[in-house]
Amino acid sequence: MSNIVAIVGRPNVGKSTLFNRLTESRQAIVDEQSGVTRDRHYGHAEWTGRKFSIIDTGGYVRGSDDAFEGEIRKQVEVAVEEANVLLLVLDVEMGVTDLDDAVARLLRKSGKPVFVVANKVDNPQRQHDAAEFYSLGLGDPYCISAMNGSGTGELLDALVAALPDDEPEDTSGLPKLAIVGQPNVGKSSLLNMLIGEERSIVTPIAGTTRDPIQQRYTKFGHDFILVDTAGLRRKARVKEDLEFYSVLRSVRAIEDSDVCLFMIDAQQGIHAQDLAIFHLVERNRKGVVVIVNKWDLVEKDQNSAKAFADHIRARLAPFTDVPVVFTSVIDKQRVFKALEEAIRVFENRKKKVRTSELNDFFLPIIENNPPPAIKGKYVKVKYVTQLPTTTPQFAFFCNLPQYVNESYRRFLENKLRERFDFSGVPVQIFFRGKAKSED
Ligand code: GDP
Ligand code: GDP
Repeated sequence: MSNIVAIVGRPNVGKSTLFNRLTESRQAIVDEQSGVTRDRHYGHAEWTGRKFSIIDTGGYVRGSDDAFEGEIRKQVEVAVEEANVLLLVLDVEMGVTDLDDAVARLLRKSGKPVFVVANKVDNPQRQHDAAEFYSLGLGDPYCISAMNGSGTGELLDALVAALPDDEPEDTSGLPKLAIVGQPNVGKSSLLNMLIGEERSIVTPIAGTTRDPIQQRYTKFGHDFILVDTAGLRRKARVKEDLEFYSVLRSVRAIEDSDVCLFMIDAQQGIHAQDLAIFHLVERNRKGVVVIVNKWDLVEKDQNSAKAFADHIRARLAPFTDVPVVFTSVIDKQRVFKALEEAIRVFENRKKKVRTSELNDFFLPIIENNPPPAIKGKYVKVKYVTQLPTTTPQFAFFCNLPQYVNESYRRFLENKLRERFDFSGVPVQIFFRGKAKSED
């Protein structure tokens, strides 16, 4: 299960600087591979072998303390609900403000591990000033400089020690499904349809003690696990009018899933807030089925579904090879179909294509449409293989991997998708130099 660390605090104390420092090295690797734009507020970090996700809750709240006090309170409340560990960042130059006191009070009540981070301790002199932060009643402050990195090692040592132990991997092999989307699109209604009757609950998965969020269900002849059902049932206490809150609420469910049922409201269409969630799914390389719900409320003619699906895919570009299902959960329309598609995507995500099959397919295509020559040099692809990874990754071995451009990579991905069904699954394509032994 995922571990989530949230950074909270007033504007300008250095939250995003700290976020960048903690995510930097790993982020660079992750994003180079996925080609998905880096998110400034959500990323992955690793320290002494422990992995966790990190969220900068300040990302969407900018401005003076007064104007944003309400926002910051909300931000802290959501962060407290969703995170395992919280970092309260303070500015040693400013000392303790009233707002800091108010935030500290919320954090003390949460009962979750909180680290007081005294930032901008750029020189030893300032360590004395940080002593003031003891008064917040949250323990010893960690003195750091997010800007130059000093003190962050000690902070990270303590932080990973406070993360809950990794729970044993669920080895049932069943599809783990998450229902994600904006508030009010129909997520809880779908959940209730899928698991409504108590007797559809077969057995809780062993080892998931922290939060009984993973449960095994049987419905429509399929066995599956729904993740974060507790989160879905716990109705939002704050009105989630900002993109940030729905993203924050989706992080855990997405990270713990294999396939996401990504719901949108047919009447509302697809907006930036929906896309933020979709990109989170894509970045975590989870499978996805797009569910256009409340289809009963839309006036339809014969072409509606097709036109709607085209419109949605255009917004999802470049990752357009996704199943789109039109449901009315209220009328029990096509919920079965949505589940079927999720299972199919789950199978696609596990799929392994034999090397011989890949080469028989790709080498003639590449022969006929070689990568464009650069500076008079020709790229020669020798062979293709699928890597033994949990999500589909393909390596094209060639003489000049650095010369292959993004549009050629897309060309190969499209061919791959046309020939082998990877619908709903993000795939990665790498170009690699020839293995030494083959020179
Ligand atoms: P946020 O609003 O809390 O995300 O704060 P930012 O990360 O945007 O930082 C606010 C300002 O403080 C910026 O001008 C940073 O360069 C500066 N800052 C951040 N960390 C440090 C630090 O460790 N030392 C000093 N001197 N300045 C810092
Ligand atoms: P959530 O916030 O995403 O969990 O959304 P809910 O499941 O609470 O649904 C929000 C509202 O939409 C409720 O009033 C539901 O009854 C309604 N709703 C859900 N699915 C449908 C549907 O397929 N058609 C119509 N007309 N209403 C729906």
